[in-house]
Amino acid sequence: MEPKGVIFDIKKFAVHDGPGIRTTIFFKGCPMDCWWCHNPESHSTEPETITRQVFTGSSSKACFERKELIGKEISLDEIIQVIMKDQVFYEISSGGVTFSGGEPLLQSKFLLLLLKKSKELGLHTTLDTSGCASLDVVKEIAKLVDLFLYDLKIVDEEKHSKYTGKSNTIIKQNLEMLTKAGQKVIIRIPIIPTVNDSLEDIKQFGEFLSQLEIIRVELLPFHKIGEDKYRKLNKINRMKDISKPTKEHMIAIKEKLEKYGLLVKLEE
Ligand code: SF4
Repeated sequence: MEPKGVIFDIKKFAVHDGPGIRTTIFFKGCPMDCWWCHNPESHSTEPETITRQVFTGSSSKACFERKELIGKEISLDEIIQVIMKDQVFYEISSGGVTFSGGEPLLQSKFLLLLLKKSKELGLHTTLDTSGCASLDVVKEIAKLVDLFLYDLKIVDEEKHSKYTGKSNTIIKQNLEMLTKAGQKVIIRIPIIPTVNDSLEDIKQFGEFLSQLEIIRVELLPFHKIGEDKYRKLNKINRMKDISKPTKEHMIAIKEKLEKYGLLVKLEE
């Protein structure tokens, strides 16, 4: 039977998901439950239906409701066809393909097939991951990944469990394994006010990351673009009273991390 995976989006001409121009494939399903997640529609591995309220004119009342299917089963060949349509752009920009989510490692068998095929076709591969998978799975996948965009949310184990629903022990172990093996790794930290932006949090990030061979750290400010999705999915938004961090606060965090000898970049 033809191998299939469940994805919830494909972004073409992506320029923030690795080098050059890329196609980013978003896998559906995530083992974590981060309070600030702006893709709550990605959590379940199954396709799901949401009800979208449609407004027209100046009325604040919804005129009608529209059902929308989030996620679909797709075959390996179908995805490869979509990816290869932009091959010329990857070539001129040193770009390639990025696998993101959700958490792509949750569909590790399908991901492995996609990575194998991408490498056979000579594509640069990037994996955007939270690293929340077994050591064996990550080791196997890593052989086919040119660049990791590795999300690290919180260093303290107890706090990580509280805000993401999962321990970070395996996440830190996987990261240490990858960097010791010489993999190219960019760390991505979402800066979430009141969750991971205290002096103690930043100190823990600095102490942990400065021991690892990484390319750089990218700081991503919390934003509220997912707010509307929580309402549509009828899910509780635990961050509704939290504001995005100021530019000054982001710069202050960047400067603190740089004191640990880290190369740090601010993202929008
Ligand atoms: S790991 Fe990413 S996709 Fe999964 S819940 Fe957290 S923020 Fe959302």
